[in-house]
Amino acid sequence: MAQAEAATAGQATAKKWVYRFEEGLADMRDLLGGKGAGCAQMTRAGLPVPPGFTITTEACNAYYEAGKQFPPGMWDQTLEALRDLERKTGKGFGDRNNPLLVSVRSGARISMPGMMDTVLNLGLNHDTVQGVIALTGNERFAYDAYRRFIQMFGRIVQDIPAERFDEVFEDAKHRHGAKQDTDLDAAALREVVAAFKDVVQRETGKPFPTDPIEQLRLAIAAVFESWMGKRAVDYRNFYKIPHDLGTAVNVQTMVFGNMGDDSGTGVAFTRDPNTGKNELYGEFLVNAQGEDVVAGIRTPMPISKMAEELPQAYSEFQQIAERLEATYHDMQDMEFTVERGKLYMLQTRAGKRSAPAAVKIAVDMVHEGLITREDALLRVEPDQVQQLLLPRFLPQAVWQARERDGFVTKGLNASPGAAVGKAVFDADRAQAMGQNGERVILVRPETSPDDVHGLIAAQGVLTARGGMTSHAAVVARGMGKPAVVGADDVRIDLRGRSFTVNGRTVNEGDWLSLDGSTGEVFAGQLATIEPNLAEEHELAELLSWADQVRRLGIWANADYPRDAERAREFGAEGIGLCRTEHMFMEEERLPLVQQMILAAPGAARAKAALGIDERRRELQARRMRQTEEHAPPDMVAADLAAEEAALANLEAKLAADSAWQQYKAALDQLLPIQRGDFKGLLKEMAGRPVIIRLLDPPLHEFLPKYDDLLVEVTELRVRGNDPARLAEAEKMLAAVNALREANPMLGLRGVRLGLLYPEINEMQVRAILEAAVELKREGVDAHPEIMIPLIGNTEELRRVETVLRAVAQAVQGEAGTQVDYKFGTMIEIPRAAFIADQIAEMAEFFSFGTNDLTQMIFGFSRDDAEGKFLGRYIEEKILAVNPFETLDRAGVGELICIAVERGRRTRPDLEIGICGEHGGDPASIAFCHAAGLNYVSCSPFRVPVARLAAAQAALQSKQAAGAKGEADR
Ligand code: ADP
Ligand code: MG
Ligand code: MG
Repeated sequence: MAQAEAATAGQATAKKWVYRFEEGLADMRDLLGGKGAGCAQMTRAGLPVPPGFTITTEACNAYYEAGKQFPPGMWDQTLEALRDLERKTGKGFGDRNNPLLVSVRSGARISMPGMMDTVLNLGLNHDTVQGVIALTGNERFAYDAYRRFIQMFGRIVQDIPAERFDEVFEDAKHRHGAKQDTDLDAAALREVVAAFKDVVQRETGKPFPTDPIEQLRLAIAAVFESWMGKRAVDYRNFYKIPHDLGTAVNVQTMVFGNMGDDSGTGVAFTRDPNTGKNELYGEFLVNAQGEDVVAGIRTPMPISKMAEELPQAYSEFQQIAERLEATYHDMQDMEFTVERGKLYMLQTRAGKRSAPAAVKIAVDMVHEGLITREDALLRVEPDQVQQLLLPRFLPQAVWQARERDGFVTKGLNASPGAAVGKAVFDADRAQAMGQNGERVILVRPETSPDDVHGLIAAQGVLTARGGMTSHAAVVARGMGKPAVVGADDVRIDLRGRSFTVNGRTVNEGDWLSLDGSTGEVFAGQLATIEPNLAEEHELAELLSWADQVRRLGIWANADYPRDAERAREFGAEGIGLCRTEHMFMEEERLPLVQQMILAAPGAARAKAALGIDERRRELQARRMRQTEEHAPPDMVAADLAAEEAALANLEAKLAADSAWQQYKAALDQLLPIQRGDFKGLLKEMAGRPVIIRLLDPPLHEFLPKYDDLLVEVTELRVRGNDPARLAEAEKMLAAVNALREANPMLGLRGVRLGLLYPEINEMQVRAILEAAVELKREGVDAHPEIMIPLIGNTEELRRVETVLRAVAQAVQGEAGTQVDYKFGTMIEIPRAAFIADQIAEMAEFFSFGTNDLTQMIFGFSRDDAEGKFLGRYIEEKILAVNPFETLDRAGVGELICIAVERGRRTRPDLEIGICGEHGGDPASIAFCHAAGLNYVSCSPFRVPVARLAAAQAALQSKQAAGAKGEADR
């Protein structure tokens, strides 16, 4: 194609490589680059843009295809456009009486820092500089422009190190006693120009090119070359930007901001990019050119001051800013120059903005009629929503802390948000102080499950060891608590209850403020801004629009009423997962749970020896058969009664067994506690569904660690002074040893526990239903959904269901009232997904446990993978993303689709959702929308994010469907 076109070049049909600004269209971004398209659109809109033209990105690509040669026709078209420019401006390129000067600006479709810089004042030489002096009567200005040109051209086009020029310039300033660049007079600058020319001669072995046409040719070629420069290539590789986009080159008439105090240059946003406030925001520098504002050589003034200094230009600029927003329907980032009081626009593009600004601008623009609600929803990143709802430090408080030497250390920013509390070095103390209403920061070398109660009580956690997936990091993120981990210069003295870092000592009780978003830790109490969705008016409004658009329900994972309350405030429509084991972990319950676990095997053995379960099942089956109409009674009523009596006898025997007694006693005590837990949760979520999962983790998690026990027993044996404690520890050790598994993740957990020890499930189900009954009496509308974890085959579910339905029947019978409850299961073992049609015959709902499902499909144990190799996998791109963060569509997703399809085939109204951590991840939420799930359930803190992400998924699939419709037509 390029070849064919090259062949016809020079003829009337030659390819168009050059567009004058007035020829370009806004939708030519690909061809003209962002800067070129912006200048073209502003020119067409009649805004004051210095005339110019753009050489296309195609020319850049053709340059490489032709072996680094301008493609045929391009240079001719460039010269033609240049002659046009001369006509328009009435100046001549290289004309010593009335010289035209231009800038040469690179500009790809995507803004790419690290690409070529801009060359200003091109066209100057010993001749034309005289013309500039004659025209402006300002010799100083002329030589300032000239020395800048040589400096930029030398550095950018000729690859001369910037220092070569800087040395000369600094030397000149020193010799003339000048503090600022502007202190150098014309004579001094003339000397600088001469010295700069010497630099070029020395560095390139050739004199500085004086022919303006030659200067232009070299500059254009240099822009093309910069596209494949190392910096640019690295940048594109990093951001996965294709290399064949090419860069455009803009050649534009110079206007001068360095012509005196009625001139200047500036950068401004149409709205405040930090707060989103609808007022001009930016900086302006009087008597300056180009990048002086950004370079920080002189301190610019706020744009509002420009109103006083250059009122005319300022008010024109204000109007232009408004028009640009109206054209682009977005906040703009603009570059401009004022030459002797006259304003010129040099660039406009969509401006980068903070999270609060993104939300405010999107919502404000809807109210201003600039964009639609759908535009607004698509314009805010879901993660920006998250940022808005975290507690954060008042920026002033952080500056002040730094000033008064309050910076303590910096670690990994493991879990975002701001936390303030007193330093505490052990979990028990943290809990005790927390219960007294004190705010604490838990400081540990690292954390373990033994510290969880301290974490619950703390505002935040600081650890000296561990990475982003360390225990402290993972648990804190789950709880939505700020965490700074791996602050490895921190030396903790646990006995002394203090830590030292950088020569500073922090003692227990000293105030700390930690910022989990940056990883910084400060001494003292920094002021925070607490998030409150109701007070974030714009965000609340944006999310209310999201709710109208999304199809997915947004539920939350919550174990405690206070989590449920937070979830509801954030807009959760149900609880998708309550993990009952978290309640078991609480301190006052743990002894009961341990008693239950220690007694369970013995109790189960006693029961099995009596054959009670089997005979019960048999009896039940016979009863069933008898009640079925046509089945002949195979046992007379008397026989049935006799069997009933025999069973009662056996049960009485069992009741005398000591293991059984201990087991039952623990369960009996746990029952009211659990009932209270569930009542709180159901009440908080009145009117909405609450999925409660029955006990799931392997039992050893509730017992002390084997290794710790072994050490204790050995020590006690050696010392021999505490036989009572030794006996106790030995008993525990034996129990823990009996529960030890080679692979607990695939061991005795989930439904398997419920089958071996059905009484635990029975207790939990009773607690759930009794809670619902009590609430019903109180006039509260409770909707519990009982969920069985880790199902792999139908018989597992059938057995559990039989037991549980009987309990539910009993509870409702005793209460004389019905409860609206559901019975369902998690789908987290691949096999369950395949037999989803059979499972749906019993289960009224499915919830995909995508954490386990991911583990099982990849064959990764999450803890081992994240601790050992997953990081490397992602670094080395063996995996593109962490499948525990973003749902793997090809494997896990495929299986979910299979289960959805098969499950609904059996039960069309099957309620289906996911409750893994993926439920709060925008990309995974988009998948759930596409897969036709009913809801996603995520941590309460992610609920607002999920609301927006679900709306975006709905809008995007609508757009895609629309686009497909277009294509089909
Ligand atoms: P960047 O991509 O680094 O922003 P630009 O091409 O926008 O580079 O140029 C940087 C600055 O140079 C502009 O903001 C402006 O101040 C100055 N500049 C560029 N072209 C001109 C021109 N024709 N007249 C005056 N100043 C210019
Ligand atoms: Mg640049
Ligand atoms: Mg720019």
